[in-house]
Amino acid sequence: MAILEMKNIRKAFSGEEILKGISLSCKEGEVLSIIGPSGSGKSTLLRIATLLEKAEGGELFYDGKAIFSLTEGQKKQATKEEKEEAKKLFGLVFQNFNLFPHWTVVKNVMDPLIHVQRKTKEEAEEKAKAVLSQMGLLEKAEQYPYSLSGGQKQRVAIARALALEPKILFFDEPTSALDPELTGEVLSVIRSLKGQKMAMVIVTHEMTFARDISDRILFMADGEVICEGSPEEVFSSEQERMKSFLGNYQ
Ligand code: ADP
Ligand code: MG
Repeated sequence: MAILEMKNIRKAFSGEEILKGISLSCKEGEVLSIIGPSGSGKSTLLRIATLLEKAEGGELFYDGKAIFSLTEGQKKQATKEEKEEAKKLFGLVFQNFNLFPHWTVVKNVMDPLIHVQRKTKEEAEEKAKAVLSQMGLLEKAEQYPYSLSGGQKQRVAIARALALEPKILFFDEPTSALDPELTGEVLSVIRSLKGQKMAMVIVTHEMTFARDISDRILFMADGEVICEGSPEEVFSSEQERMKSFLGNYQ
């Protein structure tokens, strides 16, 4: 069964349709990359999937449970409690890290463990340090974000999300804010997460990375899915829009 399912998602801003009926699904352990030009609605789609933004139409399911179902015949929303439960299933890693600057690295990772998962301080610290260690950042635990490189900050943000043991982790252009020489360390950390049970949905402009890591790729333009399939299928597509988009990366 799909851990995430989005059906016919629609969204408009000030009367302009940004998402024109997007459908996607992601199974346990699967890596789905979403590619497409700037402004095509990728971030808006992730914000709807992670309940940061409301959709005007369509359906969203986690683990088969409806979070909203806004179709011709019905307008159904999960209760606040059901939404809080669903939020425990996913994590989100942003382009700009979103770390708290006045907290140490370890406190940044511990905080959601304490406030979302209600762990004790000791349990949270143990878990945070284990995940920081996995990210190769244990020696940075007591430092503040300003003293880290962009790549290290993003690895802390990934550690913070991973510590909550999500079933699905969303990344919105995780390397776009980084200097090119720092991109590799973040991509290799993401690569190292593949092959476990956790599913990943990755919005990225790193085409080689997307091709290597993805089980499936979805290409969006102007709020529509233009092409979807295995990396081989998508990268060899004869679809004009797909070809011209990929042409910009060669
Ligand atoms: P992408 O992530 O693919 O670059 P976005 O989802 O950020 O695309 O944006 C898609 C379109 O929606 C853009 O035209 C953007 O200007 C518009 N948009 C996104 N968020 C808002 C908002 N909060 N208010 C108004 N317009 C928005
Ligand atoms: Mg975006």
